[in-house]
Amino acid sequence: MVELESPSHAKTAVDRLGTFIADQFEQLGATTVVHRQAKFGDQLQFDFPGAFDTRPILLLGHYDTVWDLNTLATMPARLDGERMYGPGVFDMKAGIAIGMYAIAALRELRGALPRPVSVLLNPDEEVGSDVSRPVTEALARKAEAVLVLEPAQGAHGAVKTARKGVGDYTLKVTGVAAHAGLDFDKGESAILELARQIRRVSEFTELQRGVTVNVGVIRGGTRGNVVPAEASAEVDVRIARLEDAAAIDAKFRSLSVFNPKCLLEVSGGINRPPMERNSGVARLYTLAQKVAQSLGMNLAEAAVGGGSDGNFTSVLAPTLDGLGAVGEGAHAKNENIMVAELPRRAALVAGLIEAI
Ligand SMILES: [Zn+2]
Repeated sequence: MVELESPSHAKTAVDRLGTFIADQFEQLGATTVVHRQAKFGDQLQFDFPGAFDTRPILLLGHYDTVWDLNTLATMPARLDGERMYGPGVFDMKAGIAIGMYAIAALRELRGALPRPVSVLLNPDEEVGSDVSRPVTEALARKAEAVLVLEPAQGAHGAVKTARKGVGDYTLKVTGVAAHAGLDFDKGESAILELARQIRRVSEFTELQRGVTVNVGVIRGGTRGNVVPAEASAEVDVRIARLEDAAAIDAKFRSLSVFNPKCLLEVSGGINRPPMERNSGVARLYTLAQKVAQSLGMNLAEAAVGGGSDGNFTSVLAPTLDGLGAVGEGAHAKNENIMVAELPRRAALVAGLIEAI
């Protein structure tokens, strides 16, 4: 899977990996439902029948990565001691393999799955899941529980019981261009205005509440000797509590210019709600701890700042996230997994499917 590269925006490549994955799941007895997508890879659903016709368990993940095509040339898939390296191996192709082997093990040991299981693999998680979200939510609504195969947290493989919500905003300022020497007083600097806005939105950060505002990209100006007419900033917002979503959004919407001769446009919004540690999450975690104990593992939990599709499902069905690979370096050059943990994680997922 790692050697079939799948950057979110390369539909043909993502679909090539999708065909490979579908083949693997079909060999395990899955019925494939393809939710066709024009812009991104197809959204893939694999349905397995259960011995009892109860509400299904949803195994959730994504098969796109943040890595461009040909990353393999400089970052090949390779085994080195206890670790496997490669683009997307940790986030989250190993997680797909874990789900696959959990199902295979249950079918081999028990003859059938204890209950129906659906596996949903999204093609656009790394770019916000706008396209895949409706199907994710529809399947979550019907599910008894959602097990998210995203990477585990830390060297001991903690599951994720809380994730921050994520927002993206763009601030765009239009000023008035002028020659910096001849007509300085006729210019209205978009960069100066944007700089003041950046200071203001940065003050929206409340670390105690888990609210952070990061201006991650700025653009603006044309030449050193021109008062700049254009400037913009991309802002990443994280919130720990759903109740903070409306307030932070209102703060962005009510931004106004310091310099009345400049124009400020604010676009964007809260993209993923936070996954809060609600009672459904807590119940699943307790169950997972019991399964882990029976396997001789100690399963910790973690609250993290990154979002996943589990953020969408946690308000619709009991959700446990971070059941995928143990490793490090998601979105980083050193991305890798601990190979020896793969069968243990698959056993954990299989045990959870039985225990729920
Ligand atoms: Zn991921």
